[in-house]
Amino acid sequence: MSIAQDKIKKYENSDCQQDDVFYQAMEEVICSIAPLLESDSKYKRYAILDRLVVPDRTIKFKVTWLNDANEIQVNTGYRVQFNNALGPYKGGLRFHPTVNEGILKFLGFEQILKNSLTGLPVGGGKGGSDFDPKGKSDFEIMKFCSAFMTELHKYIGPRIDVPAGDIGVGGREIGFLFGEYKKITSSYEGVLTGKPFVFGGSLMRPEATGYGAVYFTQQMLEIEGKESLEGKVCTVSGAGNVALHAIEKLQQIGAIPVSCTDSRGTLYDSRGVDLALLKELKLERRVSLEEYVLTHESAKYIPVSEYPEHAHAVWDIPCYAAFPCATQNELNEIDAQNLITNGCESVTEGANMPSTPEAIAAIQSHGLCFAPAKAANAGGVVVSSFEMSQNAAMSRWTFEEVDEKLKLNMQQICTRVALTAKDYGVEGNYVDGANIAGFKKVADAMIAEGI
Ligand code: NDP
Repeated sequence: MSIAQDKIKKYENSDCQQDDVFYQAMEEVICSIAPLLESDSKYKRYAILDRLVVPDRTIKFKVTWLNDANEIQVNTGYRVQFNNALGPYKGGLRFHPTVNEGILKFLGFEQILKNSLTGLPVGGGKGGSDFDPKGKSDFEIMKFCSAFMTELHKYIGPRIDVPAGDIGVGGREIGFLFGEYKKITSSYEGVLTGKPFVFGGSLMRPEATGYGAVYFTQQMLEIEGKESLEGKVCTVSGAGNVALHAIEKLQQIGAIPVSCTDSRGTLYDSRGVDLALLKELKLERRVSLEEYVLTHESAKYIPVSEYPEHAHAVWDIPCYAAFPCATQNELNEIDAQNLITNGCESVTEGANMPSTPEAIAAIQSHGLCFAPAKAANAGGVVVSSFEMSQNAAMSRWTFEEVDEKLKLNMQQICTRVALTAKDYGVEGNYVDGANIAGFKKVADAMIAEGI
């Protein structure tokens, strides 16, 4: 049995269900890099895999705060500092009731290789809380963020660990977190990215992940000799930061995004979605997508409960390119089959690990282009690194400057992934290309730094 197979078996025998998504992410990486591990004994000699799959440390803490009724609330906070071989730990904070250690381990592990792929000096980490921001007042969000930072500030710093946003954590939350950090430490420093522009954020950070996913797709389609996105119908899931900016960039380049989703259902507007209205509903009023059809009567809102079990309405809409941008494992094998049957040519993961392994296998075996999250959604961390550079130099870059650098970076990531896949005999397989290229850089740094 190879060391890679041995590793998978050991982890599969564990009985911790919370870690399911972590094993899923790990197994994919181990399968991709197995030929590399077998061909070069240094990885085994330095026990790179054993060291890579265990976080440097996991910090878990209690967050106690007062709601608007002055009742005491208790949540759990986490920070998984996974690997800092390439630079300070870097990765988002997620506030969602489903957050647990396993989910954050999966996200932190993915983040190591994603950050490595960018070529920028950042390590991997992730954090968050089981706190649910939905339905909370601005003051409740502020009180929770303050309580969360009271504990988190002990473990982070511009050269130590630099968190950013993720699901449930946008500019508002980052602002409150930054304000509390500043109050506790009396230090005005780039300890968080995704800050509002007015106090140190980078222009284009909110747009970065969605725009980056579209730039990656354009480059991938060109490399693979497929038709461009211009004039093509695209489907997008999610209606948050990543999804809305993917939709925005798709519209800018002349594609026709016709869908988005929230946790309750799918919105389908065959004429192309009205982005201004979506932003009003989701970013300003924070209400259900269902309200979209009140003013756009020809559009359809399909609640999750009205769609057959095990399939998602959004992936049943015919499209040229699909962009899952909501959450993990939201696109399964049935969804993949629906996309294939309807003539889809390309799937780009805007969210982290939105496709199940079975869905990826079906997509790849039918010759569709498939852009994995750790490469395609790296735009967020790329611009976060730009924000760190700007903060360190006390400088400001223009929107155009950031956009140009982001586009170039995404094209370079895509090309690096495609070339690596070719070098390792798996041409066109962007999953293997991304895993091998990301792994090699971190592994080489770990070897050079000793144990
Ligand atoms: P947001 O919180 O801004 O938005 C998430 C959106 O997805 C919400 O509209 C939410 O619906 C919807 N959603 C959540 N669960 C489901 C579901 N099961 N089915 C359908 N829709 C659902 O998060 P982000 O846009 O920031 O993050 C989305 C994904 O992208 C995550 O996987 C995240 O890890 C990844 N990512 C984000 C980056 C960033 O820069 N923000 C960077 C790299 C990756 P509702 O409105 O009902 O809550």
